[in-house]
Amino acid sequence: MARLRVDATSPVDWLYTAEGGANLVLSYAGDAVPDLQRHALRLRKRKRIAGPQGAIPDQVDVEFGDKVVRPLLGPELCLEAQVVALSSEWLRSVAGSLAARNVRPLKRVEEDDVDVAAGKGVLVEDLISGRGCLSVEIKPKWGFLPSRDHLSPETADVKSAYCRTCMHRALKRAPRITTAKRVGAEPALAVDREEFCPLDLYSRDPARTSRALQQLYASWTSSDGGINNLRFFLDGKLVKPSELPPQFEEKMTSSSEFDGDPASGFASRFTPILLASPVLPRLAALQASLDPLDIEGLAARVRDELGLDLYRPDLAEDEVASTLGGQPTTQEWQAWLERASAPAPPNEQDAPLRDLVLAYLLSATFKDCSIFIRVDSPPFPANIATTLSADDPSAIAGAEIKVIDLDPKPIARMGKYARMDREIVEHWRDSVLAGGAPSRCCGTTA
Ligand SMILES: [Zn+2]
Repeated sequence: MARLRVDATSPVDWLYTAEGGANLVLSYAGDAVPDLQRHALRLRKRKRIAGPQGAIPDQVDVEFGDKVVRPLLGPELCLEAQVVALSSEWLRSVAGSLAARNVRPLKRVEEDDVDVAAGKGVLVEDLISGRGCLSVEIKPKWGFLPSRDHLSPETADVKSAYCRTCMHRALKRAPRITTAKRVGAEPALAVDREEFCPLDLYSRDPARTSRALQQLYASWTSSDGGINNLRFFLDGKLVKPSELPPQFEEKMTSSSEFDGDPASGFASRFTPILLASPVLPRLAALQASLDPLDIEGLAARVRDELGLDLYRPDLAEDEVASTLGGQPTTQEWQAWLERASAPAPPNEQDAPLRDLVLAYLLSATFKDCSIFIRVDSPPFPANIATTLSADDPSAIAGAEIKVIDLDPKPIARMGKYARMDREIVEHWRDSVLAGGAPSRCCGTTA
């Protein structure tokens, strides 16, 4: 991507797309600069009432993506991003144009606005805008089971049999299960068995991948788009099940064969795309290889070498960060990557603890990222699922797959990771398994 003078464009050519806690995203809809078409601009926000700035600076994000994530995940699955200089005059007129068009949610407007003093923004390829463009965002979560080698006898049977994501979902619902029991309703586990398991999605087995997509779709519908594992964008806008645009179903279920059953239509359309892409096996392999000890094995090394108990309930984040050596810089990440990519890297027993912690943080990034699949018109032929084999590259013609949300995780969170893991496994073992074991909570024994 050549250097582009973004602040020479007209602010009205940038349309509001979405925003999170720290950033606001615009997409370019102008004709004046063709190189900017299909690009989005991420702008830093500032609170109307000043508070602590916890976010990692844009520059660090972009470098981390370029120098660490891209070589590991493969350039074809990564978005190109660049930091661009933006004048405060231009940012001020963008903020004015957004306010005049009244496009931001009121709650957000009350809280914050574009940071006109940021001096820069991040330009990325745009995955959602464009007429007739359907984009699917899937958060695949954990795609592997840990090896028993570094697990304790108390957890090994559970963690090597049931997947982390299904166990975590059970814990998040725990209060609701209790209430259901009290009123004599059906136990929530009966429902869990019908829900998405990442091990199905990652399985490379067309039937299981298709089942995972159908289950995701069903949860998306029943929660009215409230789940974070699946989202749809059509013509650049987020789609909610209760407000389906007329052309949505037709795009999802391009085959008349699936009329009336959008979940099957969705699965039949997107299973071949996922199976033909290296994205899922690559993510699962990275998640597993960067987390060889499991958090339990890693916490034991931290305890033995640094005298820090990551499970201590009152452990402060600052203490975790400083004892573990602080948040790694991009330079340290790069040096680590060179060591880790050497022909014979040290095995997990001999690797320095700091290297293992960096690897674990990166594994956490890959466990929490999202896959974006963008399909532009025209839709696939109706019989795509049956006519294309999984390894036929033409199965993904017309679909573009990228991985997003690949930001570095804070090292201060290591204590939280350890305690959360213990809570999830104990809940599963003591409450779920003890109360009538689900023979098949997730894809492991399918
Ligand atoms: Zn599972």
